[in-house]
Amino acid sequence: MKLTHQPRVALVTGAGRGIGKAIAELLAADGHTVLCISKNPASCGGVADAITATGGKAKAYPVDVADAAAVAQASEAILKEYETVDILVNNAGITKDNLIFRMSDEDWQDVISTNLSSAFYWIKSLVRPMTRKRWGRIVNIGSVVGRIGNPGQANYAAAKAGLHGLTMSLAREFASRNITTNTVAPGFISTDMTGKLNDEQKNAIMKVVPLQRFGTTTDVASLVNFLVSEEAGYITGQVFSVDGGMAM
Ligand code: NDP
Repeated sequence: MKLTHQPRVALVTGAGRGIGKAIAELLAADGHTVLCISKNPASCGGVADAITATGGKAKAYPVDVADAAAVAQASEAILKEYETVDILVNNAGITKDNLIFRMSDEDWQDVISTNLSSAFYWIKSLVRPMTRKRWGRIVNIGSVVGRIGNPGQANYAAAKAGLHGLTMSLAREFASRNITTNTVAPGFISTDMTGKLNDEQKNAIMKVVPLQRFGTTTDVASLVNFLVSEEAGYITGQVFSVDGGMAM
């Protein structure tokens, strides 16, 4: 089935690398104007430049998504330029793993702010024009860990499970405005984030992934691309796993 994509303005956080980069590239290839957010100016800048070099429309905004004031300021500038952001993909995320009795308050807070509060900041700053337009798509990137937990990742699992709750509540809040809100929950995907794992950890993961491989960034981006299409307009409040069958 060929998906219908009217050209929209899409904002993708964490678009500088990994899954966010793949999402930004796929949305740009389908004709959307993509606003690429990352912390490091070089990474979102590089992705936006590569998209424009191949004829797509993109612009880079280096923003620390964990900083409420920075998100509000960037959103104001973006809305001045584009009037509405139609598609919002909250993808930026970090890990700071440790067993709970060794986890510092700072590592707890950093992961909650970057992976969960950031979604609240962007949605709050950008949703009003979406409601006026009576069309919107919000996709939050969760994790299999937010569904089943993982020792050493209490902060990360709490943030990702929190995103699932946020998604369901906002799906109900915005349904009457034709805005859908969904979560995509990847399993183990080959990116810089999982590049830190040693062979022993990778072998242990393979034992619990029925499809017996790490996912690709395109595996995740393809689902996001579907969820933001016209055809996905009757799907809201859901969590979709892209995890090789890990969480059944
Ligand atoms: P990467 O580490 O490859 O990339 C993370 C991106 O997020 C980077 O572009 C980074 O910016 C950006 N980012 C991190 N912190 C901030 C911040 N404070 N402000 C702005 N941007 C920030 O991650 P992945 O692509 O692997 O992961 C993407 C999402 O998918 C995350 O939410 C992650 O939790 C989730 N996920 C990933 C899985 C995996 O196996 N890879 C599995 C399940 C979920 P910069 O480039 O500037 O550093």
